[in-house]
Amino acid sequence: MRYLFLLAILTFLLACSSTRSEIKTEGKEEEVQDKIHKDQLIEVAERFYARELTSGTGGDISVRVPGTERIIVKATGTCLGDLDYGKLSTINLKGEVIEGNPAPSHEADIHAVIYSMRDTVGAVMHMHAPYSTAWAAVGELIPAVTQQSVNPLRGVAIVPYYRVGSPELIEAVVEAYRNPETSVVMMENHGAFVVGSDLYDLLYKAEVVENTARIAWLCKALGEPKQFEF
Ligand SMILES: [Zn+2]
Repeated sequence: MRYLFLLAILTFLLACSSTRSEIKTEGKEEEVQDKIHKDQLIEVAERFYARELTSGTGGDISVRVPGTERIIVKATGTCLGDLDYGKLSTINLKGEVIEGNPAPSHEADIHAVIYSMRDTVGAVMHMHAPYSTAWAAVGELIPAVTQQSVNPLRGVAIVPYYRVGSPELIEAVVEAYRNPETSVVMMENHGAFVVGSDLYDLLYKAEVVENTARIAWLCKALGEPKQFEF
């Protein structure tokens, strides 16, 4: 009887230690995934900055840790060209800070709502790229004048000027993203939002959008771009 009792205690202790190690492993895995995505975010943000898709402390970028509700986003007042762990905030889908820098970008709420609306979105960027912003400043959609730009600019939308961080701006951008085809939302006198399936898809898409804005501007000097079937 005493042996049975000891056996029961031993089984109980083993079960407890295995649960504890599972929790520990889960926590470790979460930490590893966060680190991988923070490193990727810092690397891709540097490339955005090097390509002049934004300047100074303008613009922001975020990534969703796949399979979670954790979003890593640039902190406010920081430059995409020199991010580090201390300049990143982790927020949830409600836009609440759950870890890291306590002051996320002013547009973090827009990022959070886009992720909660679209499961397919893994990364979001808001850029102040010169040619795209010029089209937005004159209130015109970037025309898809090349075959490469047709897909990224499918469903492109433009919203009126609203103050940064205002509920009106959040509402207008989020409303534009209700169209599932829309990857790019231009903001008058401000810049544009771009979404991608991951950070690299986002980077390549943003580059094509800005390059197309430049080509379309050059076309204006030469004549009317030819129509084509895609
Ligand atoms: Zn901005």
